[in-house]
Amino acid sequence: MNRKVDTTPPGRAVVIGAGIAGLGAAIRLAVKGYDTHVVEARKEPGGKLHSFDLEGFRFDAGPSLFTMPEQVTELFDLAGRDPAAYFPYRQLNDACRYFWPDGHRFIARTDPEQFAREAAATFHVPESEIREHLIHARDLLQSAGKVFLHKPLNRWQTWTDPAVVTTLLTLKAADLLYPLDRLNRLRLKEPHLVQLFNRFATYNGSDPYRTPGLMTMIAALEHGQGVFFPEGGMVAITRALHQLGLDLGVTYHFNTTVDEILVQQQKVRGIRIGTETMPADLVLSDMDIWYTYRRLLPDHPAPERILRQERSTSALVFYWGIQHTFEELGLHNIFFSADYQQEFDLLFRGEEVTDDPTIYVHISCKEESGDAPSGGENWFVMVNAPRHEGQDWTAIIQEVRNNVLKRLTRELGQPIEPLIVREKIWSPPGIEADTLSYQGALYGNSSNNRFSAFLRHPNENPTIQGLYHIGGTVHPGGGIPLSLLSAKISTERI
Ligand SMILES: Cc1cc2nc3c(=O)[nH]c(=O)nc-3n(C[C@H](O)[C@H](O)[C@H](O)COP(=O)(O)OP(=O)(O)OC[C@H]3O[C@@H](n4cnc5c(N)ncnc54)[C@H](O)[C@@H]3O)c2cc1C
Repeated sequence: MNRKVDTTPPGRAVVIGAGIAGLGAAIRLAVKGYDTHVVEARKEPGGKLHSFDLEGFRFDAGPSLFTMPEQVTELFDLAGRDPAAYFPYRQLNDACRYFWPDGHRFIARTDPEQFAREAAATFHVPESEIREHLIHARDLLQSAGKVFLHKPLNRWQTWTDPAVVTTLLTLKAADLLYPLDRLNRLRLKEPHLVQLFNRFATYNGSDPYRTPGLMTMIAALEHGQGVFFPEGGMVAITRALHQLGLDLGVTYHFNTTVDEILVQQQKVRGIRIGTETMPADLVLSDMDIWYTYRRLLPDHPAPERILRQERSTSALVFYWGIQHTFEELGLHNIFFSADYQQEFDLLFRGEEVTDDPTIYVHISCKEESGDAPSGGENWFVMVNAPRHEGQDWTAIIQEVRNNVLKRLTRELGQPIEPLIVREKIWSPPGIEADTLSYQGALYGNSSNNRFSAFLRHPNENPTIQGLYHIGGTVHPGGGIPLSLLSAKISTERI
């Protein structure tokens, strides 16, 4: 019997934005056979994940911590290419170096056994308590993580799947009902360890004193699955995915801003760029969901309840070329504030940065020596900042810069300011303007609400056929791995 094989190409797909989710989605669409076009306002791909040079010092602009590399390598497997040929990366032994104002210092290893052993010795707590906590985090990641991160939450099929139901029944009520800090205090008790584990709330820009205990699962990334470093720095992720897209025939349009998503009779028809239109059968928007509705769908009713949710934190980043090397610093370093709770109260309620902020210092030249001239280091110094609501950022930046310099000078035993030979600053309004992220939020909506997973916009537009939403501001959330997962969930629905 002769069977007719349908060889018609599935049509044209337009991806708005070449952020990490847009790059991932374009690859998945090209593999499915779509004539795929990515339209990007910036001159280059990557969105927040781009890189720049400051006279001899190279910096990754945004993300610095790389976990869940399988979300990247899966794209090469899907396209039938060798991931190692495009994207070499390595696993690290150390997750982070921690510094407390009372003089405590601790190098947190990625190996959970070693972490538990060394943390127990440093903080004088039973090793078994830490080990049990990490096992619990791992179990949560394997159970709740599989549902909340990998599945669409707005489809009844998810909630009637027997595997999902069984998983949900295994969850402890405390993980759903108590805030992360309360659970950490109950389970770990020791204040330094509580602060260390509270820090995982900042993975998605949330407040550890309000975000649900389920966030415990994030600890199992750094102290379980591992921390990784891409050869060439974080921007290597962007470059590898862009190259794979090119090799699969994706067309990229840089320096081009999309002005409207065209919709007719509740079906997407394409996009408008100035006076030109680009017809399309599918549109995937990697633009911040708030701006997607406000700018690209002005005549379409917006889901106001979702758009009104509290945004995640933003950041103040100082990129410093430093004329010195510091043995006591590693790739990732955190200098904790003395009063973590006050820091988050101010961030979410007072629109301010405390005088004693937690400081994160990322130094990529510790792994990639060419990122700084010999005898120097490239410091990415980041402080959590409130969302942009018209504050006087010039004054805030000056104050924060002084406080950061004072603290680092004290901790490292020598004045830091004279060592700064290059400087650039990225502030919340800059992040908003450069990546069209509403209020400069790094991760879209915060996860401070117990129901936040359900208050993120779904990947499939509920009323416009053929329109999908991807990236860090929609389901399943912000950060590189989750942004890539949003592209996966969306394209699997197509
Ligand atoms: C300072 C900082 C530190 C961070 N640290 C980490 C970290 O350590 N680890 C981690 O995993 N994550 C981190 N993140 C978060 C992470 O960067 C984001 O969650 C992720 O990169 C979001 O990717 P995206 O694809 O959603 O969008 P984006 O990177 O925001 O890209 C969106 C793109 O769409 C383009 N665009 C928007 N509107 C239009 C339009 N109308 N027309 C054309 N183009 C348009 C924009 O120009 C942009 O390039 C950090 C972010 C920042 C800013």
